[in-house]
Amino acid sequence: MKFQYMGLSSTLLRAIADAGYEKPTPIQWQAIPAVLQGKDVLGIAQTGTGKTASFTLPMIDKLSQGQAKARMPRSLILEPTRELAAQVAESFEKYGKHHKLSKALLIGGVSMQDQVADLDRGVDVLIATPGRLLDHFSRGNLMLSGVRILVIDEADRMLDMGFIPDVEEICTKIAQQHQSLLFSATMPPVIKKLADKFLNDPKVVEVASQSSTADTITQSIRHVGYKAKRQLLRDLLTSEKVNNAIVFCNRKIEVKEVYKSLKRHKFNAGQLHGDMQQSERMEVLSDFKEGKVTILVASDVAARGLDIPSVSHVFNFDVPQQSEDYVHRIGRTGRAGRKGTAITFVTPRDDKYLDAIEKMLGKKLTSPEGNAPTKTDVKSEAKFDKKPHHKGGHKDAKKPQHRHSKPKDGEQNEAKNKPNHNKPHKNDDDKKPNKNKHVKNKSNAKPKESSGFGDNVPNFLK
Ligand code: AMP
Repeated sequence: MKFQYMGLSSTLLRAIADAGYEKPTPIQWQAIPAVLQGKDVLGIAQTGTGKTASFTLPMIDKLSQGQAKARMPRSLILEPTRELAAQVAESFEKYGKHHKLSKALLIGGVSMQDQVADLDRGVDVLIATPGRLLDHFSRGNLMLSGVRILVIDEADRMLDMGFIPDVEEICTKIAQQHQSLLFSATMPPVIKKLADKFLNDPKVVEVASQSSTADTITQSIRHVGYKAKRQLLRDLLTSEKVNNAIVFCNRKIEVKEVYKSLKRHKFNAGQLHGDMQQSERMEVLSDFKEGKVTILVASDVAARGLDIPSVSHVFNFDVPQQSEDYVHRIGRTGRAGRKGTAITFVTPRDDKYLDAIEKMLGKKLTSPEGNAPTKTDVKSEAKFDKKPHHKGGHKDAKKPQHRHSKPKDGEQNEAKNKPNHNKPHKNDDDKKPNKNKHVKNKSNAKPKESSGFGDNVPNFLK
């Protein structure tokens, strides 16, 4: 299949060629014709598959006719996080550069007034996080009755963050006559119910199984005592050929501490977590993309779905407590046919989470010989068990997280009905990320160009 045969306009084909895309990805060749025909679509695909273009491209063509009225957006895209919303806005910029579509971004951490001014001008494409959208709606800043195309992106992430009630509320406020597209990496029962309720005879498009990981990724584990984790991380960062890496932690307190520790040891690190202001998150992300920062310490919620350039290494500083998070995390490396390395730190208390991951993957993760837990590791672990290492400790570590109940990583500020929910947080991490260029290894190596196709690397790239 070629882009030329999909029914897209020649203006759009020019933008696609400018973007350097030669062929549609599987999600694109399945979804684009259906969206152009006006059908509802249920897309089961994760980030990295070319999913964003699968809805933005046909939307641009569909919206090129007609004009937006003040405060009555013609289309609405719901995203779970501000970063994802900003990324989708960038896609509209990129693919819509030969069109004259107006768009607005309603996300937290940005002035409401500026957003109202955008809405007043009339928008063809409105990209929003659910909390901020409802906030504007309740203040009478916009009407949803003009929406003709609704996209619910990353629905399973919405579920993780407790946004499904908001999404349902938004769906009920939209005009009867509209086209709905829903994308989700996984299809838990709540999302299935949402799709059944709000999609009308959708075309179902599925491109990747949730448990598959690219075979370009070398996966291994390291047994380690809790207290030795940071030392192990430093050792690996200096001994492995690390171009750039993401270090995933389960909780934001851990992100902050690992980040601080790496900085103390003069690593070229940045951090990404839900307590940071929007501007700080964007800044560190762009520094990472540009290679100014080479090690990004991140939490799942802050990093998931982001189009981060292919990285050489992913370190799971903590074993993810949800198996699917493992797949999402390590999917940051080994993208688009490139080789990647994923290393997971396993303490004795992580056994059940590791078991669940191995069960999902259908294989055992092994550690290099000689890296079994040492006596010192075990001792330090025992000590840690008696006396938590830091305030706030690891009281949650034994409890499985209830992913469907509430936001788990500071993204609560997007949540429903809190008047100031999207206001930037003030906290001790509000300082600007330090662009200290001291590095221990290959700090200035530029990350390779972004490409991410997850497990669906097109043949032309294999
Ligand atoms: P997404 O899954 O939407 O996050 O897209 C992942 C990456 O794939 C983005 O960097 C896109 O620019 C890129 N991409 C999307 N479609 C294509 C295509 N047909 N050919 C090459 N790259 C693409």
